Amino acid sequence: MHKNAAVFLDRDGTINEDTGYIDAPKRLVIIDGVFSSIKKLNSKGFKVVVITNQSGVARGYFSREAVDAVNRRLEETLKKEGAYLDGIYYCPHHPDDDCECRKPKTGMLEKAKKDLHVDLEQSYVVGDKVSDVEIAYKIGGKGILVRTGMGNDEEKKLIHKPSYIADDLKGAVEWIIKDRSQKSEVRSQR
Ligand SMILES: [Mg+2]
Ligand SMILES: [Zn+2]
Repeated sequence: MHKNAAVFLDRDGTINEDTGYIDAPKRLVIIDGVFSSIKKLNSKGFKVVVITNQSGVARGYFSREAVDAVNRRLEETLKKEGAYLDGIYYCPHHPDDDCECRKPKTGMLEKAKKDLHVDLEQSYVVGDKVSDVEIAYKIGGKGILVRTGMGNDEEKKLIHKPSYIADDLKGAVEWIIKDRSQKSEVRSQR
């Protein structure tokens, strides 16, 4: 069966400004260049999947319905700009819950792997935190740290070196497309 390469995107601080706990659609402020970048990934045949920790649910700051409403707004906004997501997964648990889905655990990616026939080793993870880079390391894919959101501070705390550090998602996507095309050139030369 054909397997897909995915680009896993963190949400807060990567797609939208990290304005604290995003508890309502009106707090969703999309970072410059995100629409066209996701559109590019769509056109290149990547599965584009959002993976986000939303411990605000377990902390009682907002409901699952609020997370769904924010995610729906994100999808609607992207759609208006001609871009789309293949999936959105979120972890509603508290760090102390020791669940399998909270990043840097890989539960959400394992689920996407099954749902969307993703080849994790051919995939990329983009985020503004150490945990996003760590996930990429765990799945054997490539991690890209973005300097939006918490990225600048997180850069100092890195455990494993990311494959690339980009100023923002736009820079990350440009790098991914270049990286991927180099790989397929190698393949077609055989
Ligand atoms: Mg983030
Ligand atoms: Zn969880």
